[in-house]
Amino acid sequence: MGDIGVGAREIIQAWGRILAGSRPNISIEITRECPLRCPGCYAYGDDHLGGGGVTLRGLADYTGDELVTRFMALVDGHNPLHISIVGGEPLVRYRELGQILPQLAERGIHAQLVTSAVRPIPRQWAAIPRLQIVTSIDGLQPEHDARRTPATYERILKHIAGHQITVHCTITRQQVRRDGYLEEFLRTWQANPNTRLIWISLYTPQVGEISEERLRAADRAKVIADLRRLMPQFSKLQLLESVLKVFEKPPESPDQCIFAKTTDCYSSDLERRITPCQFGGNPDCSNCGCLASAGLEAIGRHRLLGVVPVGRIFHASVRVGRAVKQLRGVAVSGGNQERSLPEYD
Ligand code: SF4
Ligand code: SF4
Repeated sequence: MGDIGVGAREIIQAWGRILAGSRPNISIEITRECPLRCPGCYAYGDDHLGGGGVTLRGLADYTGDELVTRFMALVDGHNPLHISIVGGEPLVRYRELGQILPQLAERGIHAQLVTSAVRPIPRQWAAIPRLQIVTSIDGLQPEHDARRTPATYERILKHIAGHQITVHCTITRQQVRRDGYLEEFLRTWQANPNTRLIWISLYTPQVGEISEERLRAADRAKVIADLRRLMPQFSKLQLLESVLKVFEKPPESPDQCIFAKTTDCYSSDLERRITPCQFGGNPDCSNCGCLASAGLEAIGRHRLLGVVPVGRIFHASVRVGRAVKQLRGVAVSGGNQERSLPEYD
């Protein structure tokens, strides 16, 4: 499946987990703290954790050895193939991450750390295997700095020195107002020696959201057309035609979203689940621009032997996994289905 950017080994491993009734991916908001106040940030939205006055800023979080112990217990309870560490700003807990990241690597887990690079990224992390440092850079310097101060371009350029980062840009309406903007952004980060990859997501609104960030239908079509044209020119831009097709027609609902069904998301108290996907609240799937979701959906739409869409096998496998897990629960508890891992929705 080289044409969809995923190796057969990863797919088979993930499939095994799904058939056994667990999810291969886990996403954890490691802290509720963040020195930034980005417009359009979903993590601090009122409905991110389901509403009712419960918000990320009001949730408990942990520090020091307690965080390391609880974090690793959560990971070990899930035994994931891949973990995404988000926030808040994860680097607020850089000391704890200095213990957590090597332990994840020892367990063979692929870790992705999503950061604003507001503070220096410890140099020694560059040697940790299977760690990907994803830095959020939302546009060229004037627009980025306006949105993401104090994580300005000046700081990012200093703080990524010695690393090979993945630049992740979420395109909002502010970035589509000028022709050639996207190309200039790609040229800037393609030329940076500390950039390994460039990822582009499109802003994903909540249902009914009216905001400056939200892309109109025409904006979205233009961005996708620009990406299609620019894709062959930038070797660091990790994007595929099959992913662009998903951006054109995203999954219809969380129930149809492979990403939502394969990823358990936890907030900073390491207990509260974020549903239906990492955005929380009531995300507008018809306008989803999440690259991770689009990437998995692109795999789902791939036809095995040109006949059966992988997604059909996936959704059937989820049902099998759910049954396996229920049976296991019955066998272990003698009918009382106490569970250590969360059920599929
Ligand atoms: S850095 Fe991330 S968590 Fe912090 S305000 Fe910005 S988008 Fe939200
Ligand atoms: S990742 Fe996108 S498509 Fe999937 S549930 Fe969330 S908003 Fe919907």
